[in-house]
Amino acid sequence: MLLNKEDEVKHLIEEIDKNELTSKSLESDKGVRKQLFEKVETYSEDFLDKLLELNTYETTGYEPSIKDSGFLIAEKGNPIEPTLNFLKERVDSTGLNPASGGHLGYIPGGSIFESALGDYMAAISNRYAGVFYASPGAVRMENTLLRWAAQLVGYPKDFGGNITSGGSLANLIAFSTARKAKNIRGADIHRTVIYVSQQSHHCIWKAIQTCGMEEAVIRNIEMDDHYRMDPKALKAQIQKDREEGLIPFILISTAGSTDVGAIDPLKSLSEICQRENLWFHVDGAYGGFFLLTDYGKERMQGIELADSVVLDPHKGLFLPYGIGMVLVKDMEHLKAANSYQANYMQDTKAHQEEVSPADLSPELSKHFRGLRMWLPLKLHGTEKFKACLNEKLGLASYFNTEVQKIGFNTLAEHDLSVVVFRYVPNGKDAEAFNSDLAKYIQEDGRIFISTTRLDGKFMLRAAILSFRTHRKEVDLLLSLLREFIERWKMESV
Ligand SMILES: *Cc1c(COP(=O)(O)O)cnc(C)c1O
Repeated sequence: MLLNKEDEVKHLIEEIDKNELTSKSLESDKGVRKQLFEKVETYSEDFLDKLLELNTYETTGYEPSIKDSGFLIAEKGNPIEPTLNFLKERVDSTGLNPASGGHLGYIPGGSIFESALGDYMAAISNRYAGVFYASPGAVRMENTLLRWAAQLVGYPKDFGGNITSGGSLANLIAFSTARKAKNIRGADIHRTVIYVSQQSHHCIWKAIQTCGMEEAVIRNIEMDDHYRMDPKALKAQIQKDREEGLIPFILISTAGSTDVGAIDPLKSLSEICQRENLWFHVDGAYGGFFLLTDYGKERMQGIELADSVVLDPHKGLFLPYGIGMVLVKDMEHLKAANSYQANYMQDTKAHQEEVSPADLSPELSKHFRGLRMWLPLKLHGTEKFKACLNEKLGLASYFNTEVQKIGFNTLAEHDLSVVVFRYVPNGKDAEAFNSDLAKYIQEDGRIFISTTRLDGKFMLRAAILSFRTHRKEVDLLLSLLREFIERWKMESV
């Protein structure tokens, strides 16, 4: 709107100034900032101090009757104190507490303190980490982290990578990159074959759907007794599919399955993929960072042969949720699937010393995620992370041994830090028994374990990956299990 009359302009300036008065108070001054920060610091310290007393699982907070007006936002703001009280009561004291060392469910994440500081500072400076031209330092930092991860995997220098919000998005990017690289046309989808196993993470199904490929042929390749994909079965299936005129496209293998921690035989699988011209993907969201340990390196040999790899720093590096990584062996493939030049982005071509995250991912504006990973690694050094991962591997072996002594069955082999177990009671339905046992532990609340189903059998799982899980927590779980079994034995005589 173009204003012609002087008085109209004058009126507009009055309006602007009036709004400015209120709008300026969005910028809290030094005194207010200090006060807010102190309150938040007290809250956080209190949370961490109480971590040992707090339950890992709280059954409250699910009641449908709770219609908390406290969640609502309104025109007028609120003071910090009651707001933090509300947060404590309605958010931080209900459900699962993933910050607790007692969290042995699903695949636990971490929440290393220095990472929170990285998030804080990234939000303060609000560095535009998507484009090298806009923030060379932030992009260089993220790319350095990717180069570090690529080196762990054993990738060549011309790999491409991206720091994502998590493993699901990282798998999605890898999948869409594979589709582009293998030039799968829409008309061929119905005869294109995707090879997975029953241990593949369900985010792969979401990726297939998001990429518009749910009409593709999906083959569940048989696994051996340890839930690792069987290369012979894969080879035979590919052959059969070729004979039927189908187009074998991609193999989704897993290095550390969520369910049981199984590592597929990467080397043999990669040889088949190479020979058969399949895209070879390794989902290492859970297991990938065990590459920091000698054991992990040994067990994941062949990961360097993958066309794409996914790693989750919010699992294996104990960071708070919100950070994953995708690595693609040939950067050009990742670029081809993700880069696009818009007119209003023309300035960004001026500097190309580092490739920009925005050219390697569907995201443009994004959180400066690198800092939440870089700061903890920079301040602590990698040595401590390695020791922590080795500790988890040790704890899993310890638990596996001790739980058998109580009379539980476990899998013959466990590859990483997930132990799957069940009790077979004499003269009682095993499913109901183990399900009651899971409930007993959840209701106790100090330790959280999850359950799964293997070959139709109801199983209990202990996933040991929180950086706060030590021998004390594993011993507590063992004593809870012992207690339950002993009580049952007493009652059944
Ligand atoms: C956790 C996990 C995912 C999904 O990652 P998110 O970070 O939860 O999105 C994918 N694959 C495996 C093997 C996982 O363990």
